[in-house]
Amino acid sequence: MELVFLGYPGSGKGTQATLLSEIHKIPKISTGDILRAAVQAQTQLGVQAKKYMDRGELAPDQIMIGLVVQRINEPDSARGYILDGFPRTINQAHELDRVFLDLKKQLTAVISLEIEKKKVIERLTSRRVCENCGKLFNLTTEPPPASNRCDHCGGKIYQRSDDKPETVLHRMEVYEELTRPLKDYYGAQGKLLQIDGSLSIHKVHADIVKRLNELPGIS
Ligand code: AMP
Repeated sequence: MELVFLGYPGSGKGTQATLLSEIHKIPKISTGDILRAAVQAQTQLGVQAKKYMDRGELAPDQIMIGLVVQRINEPDSARGYILDGFPRTINQAHELDRVFLDLKKQLTAVISLEIEKKKVIERLTSRRVCENCGKLFNLTTEPPPASNRCDHCGGKIYQRSDDKPETVLHRMEVYEELTRPLKDYYGAQGKLLQIDGSLSIHKVHADIVKRLNELPGIS
């Protein structure tokens, strides 16, 4: 199974992709996570990507395409994968189509999480993350412990620099201009599954599973 998640930053793509990847035992490939790991490790990729991420801009297509092509050619991707945060531009989607054509594979579906902009802005600006294991917290719905240490692994909890309010607003604009057109792109291919992303994590997950099970050839 090869899936793509689309949706505003903060729409729940990462959370839902993780749940599906656990069920299907296929990797979740999050380009944002790959870039954040590179930033932390201070690799050449990280140094380059940080400039874009801190401003809420997209990293250049060529970098991202190379990175994803390499990752999906790793052995653990052979049975399928879930892309979280890629493609984000029409150019990236064209390249992904080319990869599928070369591999004689078909994208299974594109899951678009639909949610109001106002709601994701609230979610993102109150989001906190464990710098060690990536566990997500939310100042209103799932506040971090008073110690500011992760209750799962003890790591330090922080606010992503791109979750600061001014950067969040810019990320929304970038999404609308460059990423939203992908909905029409995949809609025209008959691949788009639109899911209400404003419901609880459990409900959204159940809706995704139901819609995927309705696809021909999925068991
Ligand atoms: P995310 O965690 O998916 O919100 O990604 C965080 C940041 O990483 C984005 O705001 C971009 O700067 C960069 N990024 C992640 N995925 C991509 C992509 N497919 N194309 C370009 N930039 C990306």
